[in-house]
Amino acid sequence: MLKTYAYAAYDAKSPLRSFHFERRDVGPEDVQLEILYCGVCHTDVHLVRNEWGESVYPMVPGHEIVGRVARVGRDVTKFKAGDLAAVGCLVDSCRSCPECQDGLEQYCNHPVFTYNSPDPHTGKMTYGGYSNQIVVDQRFVLRVPDRLDPAAAAPLLCAGITTYSPLRHWKVGPGQKVGIVGLGGLGHMGVKFAKAFGAQVVLFTTSPGKVEDAKRLGADEVVISKRPEEMAAHALSFDFILNTVAAPHDLDQYLALLKRDGAMCLVGVPDQPHPSPHVGNLIFKRRKLGGSLIGGLPETQEMLDFCAEHGIVSDIELIAIDRINEAYDRMVKSDVKYRFVIDMATLPDH
Ligand code: NAP
Ligand code: ZN
Ligand code: ZN
Repeated sequence: MLKTYAYAAYDAKSPLRSFHFERRDVGPEDVQLEILYCGVCHTDVHLVRNEWGESVYPMVPGHEIVGRVARVGRDVTKFKAGDLAAVGCLVDSCRSCPECQDGLEQYCNHPVFTYNSPDPHTGKMTYGGYSNQIVVDQRFVLRVPDRLDPAAAAPLLCAGITTYSPLRHWKVGPGQKVGIVGLGGLGHMGVKFAKAFGAQVVLFTTSPGKVEDAKRLGADEVVISKRPEEMAAHALSFDFILNTVAAPHDLDQYLALLKRDGAMCLVGVPDQPHPSPHVGNLIFKRRKLGGSLIGGLPETQEMLDFCAEHGIVSDIELIAIDRINEAYDRMVKSDVKYRFVIDMATLPDH
């Protein structure tokens, strides 16, 4: 067993603090990563604070992991010691269902998430990336192209793929008008990808202070969603809207902006339901309201390679791990530019 140092939540209310535990030994198909950087996702806050009612403690959050391969098992062909590699939100799945066979492991009925998920290897829960090392089957480990800055690449593993996948699925491209709602970790990646795919991009924000940043990140136009006249100016004009907001809000104000046959995809997972949208907003223009969960392994690799080719990474604030509780409070106040990433060299006892 591998003694592992970490930061953990011990309950829903206390600050995260030091923790240690054992990782499994490296099996024939396993890759052991020394973790260099781990991004901080709003999901970490939802789960640490038990906002979805499914948290098990102690919990080691973190699913935007970039590290250096320390060891590989004897049957590992994809990686060797010294390689830069990454782990996202999934560390295993059933591998045989139609979803797994299609490379859509995130939709498997038996996925193993990187943390707060029953771990078939240990019989306990999985522990995530706020730790110095992790052991993962090679099938769930991604290659990180050398051209990507490893710290700024970490958020690609969740914020990146969660926005890339629906934009690809809904075939966003040139000639389309696309809205991104919320300029946080997911939203800022959504703006970058929608722009890179050739769409006209409009960013919706509740924070007037983010307008200039949104334009720098690639938005052609920025709308303050709390100003009804600015919203009304865009009625019936969007092909697609990607909504990343982490809190319950009025969906009708966005549905009304879609053209006939337009779609809005929700990726934010608030702790309370959104008020139900009016059916009329869907049926009169045959609009669609959908959702999307992260992305499968093949598409996650495709996204990382796309980012290397197009020079796309996340805009990050690098923090020491003892600033994590403060980072959570800032994230809840929408005060993050635009993703916190933990420098794992700052982990104590390590
Ligand atoms: P984040 O960095 O905190 O960004 C969320 C943004 O939403 C905020 O920066 C803010 O942007 C906007 N916002 C927050 N509260 C709002 C409110 N009351 N009304 C309107 N807008 C509000 O969070 P994130 O890491 O991007 O995650 C966003 C959500 O996606 C979370 O619920 C997370 O759990 C979920 N998520 C889902 C998946 C998936 O696979 N579907 C994957 C990862 C995360 P402005 O300041 O611009 O308004
Ligand atoms: Zn995430
Ligand atoms: Zn499966």
